[in-house]
Amino acid sequence: MNNVEQTLSIIKPDAVERDLIEEIKSIFLKNNFSVKEFKKIHLNKEEAAEFYKVHQSKPFYDSLCSYLASGPIAVMILEGENVVSKYRELMGSTNPKDAKENTLRKMFGISIDKNSVHGSDSIENAKKEINFFFKN
Ligand code: UDP
Ligand code: MG
Repeated sequence: MNNVEQTLSIIKPDAVERDLIEEIKSIFLKNNFSVKEFKKIHLNKEEAAEFYKVHQSKPFYDSLCSYLASGPIAVMILEGENVVSKYRELMGSTNPKDAKENTLRKMFGISIDKNSVHGSDSIENAKKEINFFFKN
C-alpha cells in the first residue's frame, strides 16, 4: 500500500455519553481505517488545555478545554492509506450544520462545540497528537 499514514481520532464527551463509540468504530472499519491503539480516558482541564494549545488565542479556548475535560473520551490511532485527509473528510465540517450527509458530524454532532469527533489536520500534527496520548 502506498501512503499509509496514521492519524489521531478522539470521540468527544458528547458522543461517549450517548454510547456511540462502537458505532463510530464500526464506521472507521467500513472506511478501511484500522484502529491501531484505543483507550478511554478522562482528561483534566490542564491536560485538555495542553492538547488544544494551538487554539489558545481563540475566544472559545477556555470553553473548548472545559468541554474536552467534561467527561470520558475515546482516543484512537487510525491507520490507512491517506487516512489524515480521508478521516477529515469523513468527520465533515467543524460546525455540524455545515457538514455534508453521511459525515460523522452531520450524523452525530449536536453543535459546533459538541461536534462528537476530533481528527488531526496534517501528518505533522497527527504525529504530535499521537505522541501526546500514546508516548512510548
Ligand atoms: N470550536 C468551537 N467554537 C468555534 C470553533 C471551534 O467550540 O467557533 C471547537 C470545535 O469543537 C472544534 C474545536 O474547537 O472541533 C477545534 O477547532 P478547529 O477549528 O481545529 O476545528 P476542527 O479541526 O475540529 O474541525
Ligand atoms: Mg483542528
